[in-house]
Amino acid sequence: MSHPRKLVFRAIMILLMVASIPLGASQAQGGIEVENATVAVNFGQSITFSAKIKSSMPIKQASLLFRGVNETVTRVETVQVAEDGSVSFTYDASQNLFPPFSSIVFWFQATLADDQTYTSAAITFPYDDNRFPWREMTRDNVTVHWYAGDDAFGAAALDSAATGMLAMNELIQVSLTEPVNLYIYSNVTDLQNTLMLGGQEWVGGHANPELGVALVAIAPGSDQIKELESEIPHELAHIMLYRSLRDKYDKQPAWLLEGIASMVERYPNPDYARALELAGENGSLLAFEDLCTAFPADAGNAFLAYAQSQSFVTYIRKTYGTSGLGRLTNAYGDGFPCELGATNALGTPLSQLDSRWREDVLGQNTLGVATRNLLPFILLLLLVLIVPIWGSIDMLAQRRKRAEQSK
Ligand SMILES: [Zn+2]
Repeated sequence: MSHPRKLVFRAIMILLMVASIPLGASQAQGGIEVENATVAVNFGQSITFSAKIKSSMPIKQASLLFRGVNETVTRVETVQVAEDGSVSFTYDASQNLFPPFSSIVFWFQATLADDQTYTSAAITFPYDDNRFPWREMTRDNVTVHWYAGDDAFGAAALDSAATGMLAMNELIQVSLTEPVNLYIYSNVTDLQNTLMLGGQEWVGGHANPELGVALVAIAPGSDQIKELESEIPHELAHIMLYRSLRDKYDKQPAWLLEGIASMVERYPNPDYARALELAGENGSLLAFEDLCTAFPADAGNAFLAYAQSQSFVTYIRKTYGTSGLGRLTNAYGDGFPCELGATNALGTPLSQLDSRWREDVLGQNTLGVATRNLLPFILLLLLVLIVPIWGSIDMLAQRRKRAEQSK
């Protein structure tokens, strides 16, 4: 169900607040003014833009221009202008998708009787998933939105965000100034549909760190605390990591981002350990080199990738400390490739860290571990022993010779 009235109101409010966005340099400014701009969003289906274009001269031709605020491509649509200047355009939002809870900016251009093209001021509006009757509650910079469950559920979600921030404070720099919006769907299907309508594949919770928005699926009920205190900190960690790394966030390997986010979950998934054990036995563990750009698309391997990353990053932190993790995000942020970032930060290439983790944490190839750990000592021992043995053999031989000679 859509709530166009609410949106119209918000769009107008934003119209009053937003000054302008950079306008095309070649376009003359002024000349046209936009009145009564409204936007009706039918999430994942359609966006209807309506307005009245006022101009001092007759309008020869007019266009509507719009794009996601973080996009570089602008959509341009020619609009028919009625005698009173009214224009309306309905965009098929099921074709070219905008992410849920992002912002869209639009403006108009009109060629007037003087053959000059004029550009209006821009208007930004929220592209929210308005199919649900969202309720909201805010504490500090965090707002939770939910539609199933009572006030206590919303308060519990805010508590989970607060404890999550406290827990991640020693791992990640937590920013409390910029707003965070958490949307809690009551079931996985609703969340899945939302992401699908927004053109994204579902992998569990979902964070859009750039927007400061996270989406999770948690049903009110007896298990809610466990899920709130795991899923909310995880998604918040992505947002806080983004805020501390900014343009270096996208350069991080997927296993590192997911590993850190999984480490701040209060109740890590109990099935992770079993998944690791099984994959270890079957020899189906994934190589971390293959988890740098993205996680596997199929659900089973994606689950294993999360389980491995959580265990692997925990192992790295235990071995090299929080400062080691910091050096790692710095190295990757500086553009080191996946294998060498680890060498730069920790003195060990990724593939070697991978096999040490398999050996130390999963107990694989224990003979290999023993041999490698002992190898320097064995070499030293050989050096220490062989030289004198050689010497004594030599001495023995000489003695024998002498004995034979003296016979
Ligand atoms: Zn994640």
